[in-house]
Amino acid sequence: MKYEFHTTQDVLRLCKKHNLPISEIAKKYEAERAGKSIPAVRNKMKQTRDVMYEAVRAGVKSTHKSKMGMVGGDAYLLGVALKKVGTMMGNKVTVRAMAYAIAVGEQNANMGRIVAFPTAGGAGVVPGTLFSCAEHFKAGKRKLLRSMFCSSAVGLIIAEGATLSAAKGGCQAEVGAGVAMAAAGLTEMRSGTPEQCFHAASIGLKSYLGLACDPLGGLVEVPCIKRNALGCMSAIGASDLAIAGVKSYIPFDEVVWAMKNIAKIMSPKLRETALGGLAVTPTGNKIKKKLGMRITK
Ligand code: SF4
Repeated sequence: MKYEFHTTQDVLRLCKKHNLPISEIAKKYEAERAGKSIPAVRNKMKQTRDVMYEAVRAGVKSTHKSKMGMVGGDAYLLGVALKKVGTMMGNKVTVRAMAYAIAVGEQNANMGRIVAFPTAGGAGVVPGTLFSCAEHFKAGKRKLLRSMFCSSAVGLIIAEGATLSAAKGGCQAEVGAGVAMAAAGLTEMRSGTPEQCFHAASIGLKSYLGLACDPLGGLVEVPCIKRNALGCMSAIGASDLAIAGVKSYIPFDEVVWAMKNIAKIMSPKLRETALGGLAVTPTGNKIKKKLGMRITK
């Protein structure tokens, strides 16, 4: 296949050879791989974008609590805070990104429809970051779509080089992957070079290596949803660094290798089993008790 890639090096070589951004390489590879036309691949991504948008739209309005009462209504609270953004340390873009990310997580917790991009647990970072920044830059739907294709290339490299499964790699594989994807997508949205996109992805992912997956009661609610919110801040920060010319000392392929290495040596207690970390705090154990799960000390 002409546009096949597995690593950052492959993508950069293809970008250079065809004088195309990462998003175009990703789109062409997906068309080749799936045996579909470019318009069909684009339409599929449009559907993805629209479902994401619906989750955000419904989530920011909702004050509904999840069944266990752990989450719900926080996106709405941030929406209220946005109206008096002068009281916040973050600016309109970052606070709105967090609101959108939480909205997606809350929809997920309340059985709404979301896109697992890259996973359900980490589904808020990409739409939170890209939608909010697209509004800021008045980027338009097409540019947003291109950013999503760029993010998807980064997700594919992580999936092939390490994992997107929390059961294998902890939260670095969910929220960490989402941060890398969002950082790269945002950097392309800002007309960053392919190299800058990968520097942003590296800088973002490095800060999430080794992160435990320790959800209370095994539910994708706490700490997951707020981790997505903070993930947007990381993605925006990583993109700012890359756009300013800051480089990651470690190339993205090596960061992904480190992620895989950490996944191998990470305790199973920190890999989606709810047997360690926050899941076994007194509060975590209260939730387990309510759910009739065995208490772990
Ligand atoms: S803590 Fe676990 S379940 Fe929650 S977002 Fe992270 S990886 Fe997913």
